[in-house]
Amino acid sequence: MKVEALLDYLRSERWPTIWCPGCGNGIVLKAFLQAVHELGLSKDKMAAVSGIGCSSRATGYIDFNTLHTLHGRAVAFATGVKLARPDFHVVVLGGDGDILAIGGNHFIHACRRNIDLTIIVFNNMIYGMTGGQVSPTTPVEKVASTAPFGNTEPPFDTVKVAIAAGATYVARATVYHYPLLVQYIKRALSHRGTAVVEAVTNCHTYYGRYNRIGDASQMIEYFKKNSVTLERAKNVSAEELKDKIIIGEFHVEDKPTFHDRYKKLVETISRKE
Ligand code: SF4
Repeated sequence: MKVEALLDYLRSERWPTIWCPGCGNGIVLKAFLQAVHELGLSKDKMAAVSGIGCSSRATGYIDFNTLHTLHGRAVAFATGVKLARPDFHVVVLGGDGDILAIGGNHFIHACRRNIDLTIIVFNNMIYGMTGGQVSPTTPVEKVASTAPFGNTEPPFDTVKVAIAAGATYVARATVYHYPLLVQYIKRALSHRGTAVVEAVTNCHTYYGRYNRIGDASQMIEYFKKNSVTLERAKNVSAEELKDKIIIGEFHVEDKPTFHDRYKKLVETISRKE
């Protein structure tokens, strides 16, 4: 695919982005646009919703129906959009802090309802926009501006939270594994129900610098070295998997969506009248 093919999906007047040079947010956004393009989805039938944070700025740069909303409320707004326009592909673009901390409650309940949303979690393991504070996915012992001697709180595993809450498509890749990321986002967009794709991405400005991993390219190299496929992880001890990023498709389930159940209820009530 030629990159020019994606220009039609951009609001070029809003570029350049505010993102630091080399930020992985650009890679994840491109993967999303490539997935939309390869699936041949109409951008007029797409809605992209975000909250607050570096990655949440993505909705300003793309030429879909977009909503840039309140901190942590992207999933709630997206739920409203999907109820109003069930014919739309509704996508949430947001960071680990926005979706799993401030918006954690909305996230688990969207998964529980199995409402037909695609939620792309840009997980850079830190709050980038506000200065590098600990987020719910910062690993133990890693340094952040609010944990200068190392984080003491165990992190959320986005994949496990999503599956436990009821999401029916759950996958994870890193920005190093770009083709995989495109593939998973395509499957998420094609899935009926709540689909969660965790995109592990680099905030070299804070996470990489505080933890002495290095610049953007060194962080991407770090993801390459520290990722393990789901298949391989099944034969590796828990000790060896410590601090590793497990990538793959973790859960695919065909189950009635919120709209399926709602439609059935309306039909039942109508028959009684
Ligand atoms: Fe990206 Fe981090 Fe810069 Fe934000 S602060 S744009 S997440 S590198």
